[in-house]
Amino acid sequence: MDRNRDKNFLLCLHDLNVKNFGDISLKIKKIADVAGCSFSLAVVPSTEEVEDNLKAEFKSVLKDLQTSGFELLLHGTEHKADLSLCRSAFGKIALKLTNNEAEFAGLLEKESLALLAKSLQFWNDLGFENSECFVPPAWYGNPFLKSQVLSRMKRYEARSYVFSKKASGVKSVFSPALSFAGIPRWVEKIAIAYARFVLSQPLGIPRLVFHPVDFEVLGEENILELVRNACSKRCIVKYASL
Ligand SMILES: [Zn+2]
Repeated sequence: MDRNRDKNFLLCLHDLNVKNFGDISLKIKKIADVAGCSFSLAVVPSTEEVEDNLKAEFKSVLKDLQTSGFELLLHGTEHKADLSLCRSAFGKIALKLTNNEAEFAGLLEKESLALLAKSLQFWNDLGFENSECFVPPAWYGNPFLKSQVLSRMKRYEARSYVFSKKASGVKSVFSPALSFAGIPRWVEKIAIAYARFVLSQPLGIPRLVFHPVDFEVLGEENILELVRNACSKRCIVKYASL
């Protein structure tokens, strides 16, 4: 093994939400067993239109995960765009590319702030005050979002960087996202090879990101093998350490 204790990576499972947490709990456990430790989970906080008992169960599962050492990141608001809001041309393209999931993409300042406030309200309703990081869905934001987030919490994650608020200013960490959701099937093998290559290079703190859909598309064995491979080359770190 060429595991190098100086080389780190972030491992994150995205899109944990009130509707899928039951199915995902087992997948989280399988990844943690292979990784040998807890990791980061990007949680969609909306619990609108669900029954109170399901919301209570979701809260309890999230608390248990956090108590077991998993790091919970705040991942958008609804993870679905409000199509009635005004957006830039870039935002409209981002919506097309993400099946309308990039809810913050290209929003104007006021609308972006209102959507972020709603996300934080949902987060508080789930019993959490702060999150180590805010991750906009599909990493599409707008010119205002980063500063809006950093004036309210510690970190903001963009597609290739994580920005952390420090006493001395904002620190940026190069963190290329190695993600597989939404890629055409014929690119899968290339994407896996690319992820293995990036993880083997002495470059930044790469982010190995999985989505629930990857278990159906990439397959569980490929996911666990990627985690195994990454852990043989680098050590898992949490956002809190950046
Ligand atoms: Zn997402």
